Amino acid sequence: MVSRQRIRKRFWENREKVRVFISGPSGAGKSTIIRKLLESNNNLVLSVSYTTRDPRPGELNGKDYFFVSMEEFEEKIRTGAFLEYARVHDHFYGTSQDWVKEREKSGLDVLFDIDVQGVEQVKKKAPQGCFIFVVPPDMDTLKQRLSLRGTETTESMNLRLRNAMKELAYWKNYDYLVVNDDLERAVHEVSAIMVACRCRAENAIKTLEWLQEIA
Ligand code: 5GP
Repeated sequence: MVSRQRIRKRFWENREKVRVFISGPSGAGKSTIIRKLLESNNNLVLSVSYTTRDPRPGELNGKDYFFVSMEEFEEKIRTGAFLEYARVHDHFYGTSQDWVKEREKSGLDVLFDIDVQGVEQVKKKAPQGCFIFVVPPDMDTLKQRLSLRGTETTESMNLRLRNAMKELAYWKNYDYLVVNDDLERAVHEVSAIMVACRCRAENAIKTLEWLQEIA
């Protein structure tokens, strides 16, 4: 007899994977939400991007990013290795197609922390993803959160504020808006959105062969 455990394992491996894209300006609290989601969801993994920026103290190659030179990054663009790529805050960032596919093959859903330009590219190619935009409750909170970031210099803080304003204008490109005024609620809302995306008929039907036959 096939054990319940094996049925469950097979279900997770065969079910349609969802790609969850979370963007939001610096100061929206996106990283904290992502960390909480990963802690509470074993089937979810965060995409590790390639970047041309230098590692910050404590960041590890292959865990936080793949840190590469501009030449290596350009080579990846040439060979079509990226699902999307963009220039953000003076550096280049790109998502590896192979990295994502490998994780999906092993039964995992992939979460992407990518900027608004990246999402714009992905949405054109694959609109069936789950596109979530995290925003702070208001402008004052955004400014306050940005100024509290001790690691930023004034120059970089001003650049982030300008970029935040530009990024906010992209809210219309997303399927869902999550207001991060209460962390627990925001995490709960993002989790619920992920479930809804998986159950969307266009996603769920892909693994329901018996139902596909019923026209
Ligand atoms: P940081 O340098 O602070 O780690 O990231 C800066 C910004 O780059 C963040 O807003 C993040 O969402 C964005 N980012 C990180 N990886 C990628 C990626 O692969 N593609 C795109 N388009 N943006 C990314």
